[in-house]
Amino acid sequence: MEPDRCSFCKGRLIKGGTEFIVRVVSELLVIRGIPAYACEECDEAYYTPDISRKIDRIME
Ligand SMILES: [Zn+2]
Repeated sequence: MEPDRCSFCKGRLIKGGTEFIVRVVSELLVIRGIPAYACEECDEAYYTPDISRKIDRIME
């Protein structure tokens, strides 16, 4: 299921690409162009469960 509404402010989520930056020990890893949703009101970013899984895999 894809996110639809912001869980903080109930704002509309806009689909778009974003950057995901993770810090792994001393290295900074930037993953570009991942599909994500951003809240129109508060800019909170949401990822689909599929993307969350991929990020988890990269983090390992
Ligand atoms: Zn919001």
